[in-house]
Amino acid sequence: MNQKRIAIIGGGPAGLAAAELLSLSGHAVTVYDAMPTFARKFLLAGKSGLNITHSEDYARFATRFGAASARLRPALDAFTPGNIRDWAGGLGTETFVGSSGRVFPDVMKASPLLRAWLKRLEAQGATLRTRHRWIGFADEGYDFETPEGRSIVHCDAALLALGGASWPRLGSDARWLPWLSEKGVEIDAFRPANCGFVAGWSESFRERFAGEPVKSVTATSDAGTFPGEFVITANGIEGSLVYAHAASLRDRLQRHGSAALTLDLAPGRTLERLIRDLTRQDVKSSFANRLRKGAGLDGVKAALLRELAAERDRADPVRLAGMIKALPVPVLETRPIGEAISSAGGIRWSSIDDGFMLKALPGTFVAGEMLDWEAPTGGYLLTACLATGRAAARGIEAWLQE
Ligand SMILES: Cc1cc2nc3c(=O)[nH]c(=O)nc-3n(C[C@H](O)[C@H](O)[C@H](O)COP(=O)(O)OP(=O)(O)OC[C@H]3O[C@@H](n4cnc5c(N)ncnc54)[C@H](O)[C@@H]3O)c2cc1C
Repeated sequence: MNQKRIAIIGGGPAGLAAAELLSLSGHAVTVYDAMPTFARKFLLAGKSGLNITHSEDYARFATRFGAASARLRPALDAFTPGNIRDWAGGLGTETFVGSSGRVFPDVMKASPLLRAWLKRLEAQGATLRTRHRWIGFADEGYDFETPEGRSIVHCDAALLALGGASWPRLGSDARWLPWLSEKGVEIDAFRPANCGFVAGWSESFRERFAGEPVKSVTATSDAGTFPGEFVITANGIEGSLVYAHAASLRDRLQRHGSAALTLDLAPGRTLERLIRDLTRQDVKSSFANRLRKGAGLDGVKAALLRELAAERDRADPVRLAGMIKALPVPVLETRPIGEAISSAGGIRWSSIDDGFMLKALPGTFVAGEMLDWEAPTGGYLLTACLATGRAAARGIEAWLQE
């Protein structure tokens, strides 16, 4: 075969997935990463168990990517959640389906999978280069800062898989944005996704409850109503239930300047039952006692009511029952993107062709979180990064053959 030189810039899940296919085809593949080691965000994801994909019905799965679902679909169809489990198994990491339907490696971490993956890439002939930071275009090539100084890489095709803009200290710092914009690539500003929010806690609430989990509640926003749990932080709220509503709260804040997550603090009790049980309480007994005896609530849930419900709502059993079933938690702003699990925004789909090539830069392809899509937590992020990395690899092969 006609061996081509392919540069893959960014050694996260998307870049490594592309390197795997392209090196298997016998191309001279070099993966460059700015950091001293590859895939640091993937390793960090492993610290919370590495939710690598999701086992829900595939038709449902494929709609989790919002407006980008249709554009992502061919890439996902070619590397489904089932394929991901087989792929991980082939690298010695068996997976299991958790009670939520999320899929995790048996070992609940990423490092053995990453080690085996990098080993396989090298065995297939890929060259792996760390501490190679791409700093822009020069002399019709890709300009790098390396431990040996500046180096311009010329290649037959390149894949940029530089990630989004969350957790920049792990490598994906989005510094590439102006370099691609200048070339005519259209990019939507990055925004935090799966992020925490700032809430205006009183000093006493913050001191007493920061770090406290709020369990067994349901939360409602424009996104819908979901059960789950979240955590009170020093300045607001975070955790899986908040992330599930994050895109909708973020967009509402942007559109209207205000937003609230509405909590049902007692999802197991009907409004009627709460009204009946709270009405029976002695009006002279304390708020804490009425709440505990009449609604089974204490601790952080009682404190949330004290913090957020007006005095007259707490005093009246009917109004209190209403607050317990629908307590609005106003959020003031998102936490910074640097703290978010992932980012929304990035390279617009209109800027790439079906093979993931930048229309403005023939021969330069893109994949992973640097593209404009977002998804909830649940293994969707890694699935789409792996799938787009592989789809871009196929795009590169097809383009090189033309
Ligand atoms: C705390 C946390 C937990 C997560 N948990 C999960 C989870 O359980 N399940 C899930 O599906 N997703 C999870 N994610 C999200 C997931 O890790 C990311 O979506 C995914 O890693 C993105 O892959 P990527 O290859 O597009 O980019 P990245 O993984 O960000 O990789 C990009 C790479 O490009 C390199 N790079 C950037 N700029 C340059 C440059 N100029 N020159 C050279 N190299 C460069 C970076 O160093 C980096 O290695 C989690 C994220 C975080 C922060």
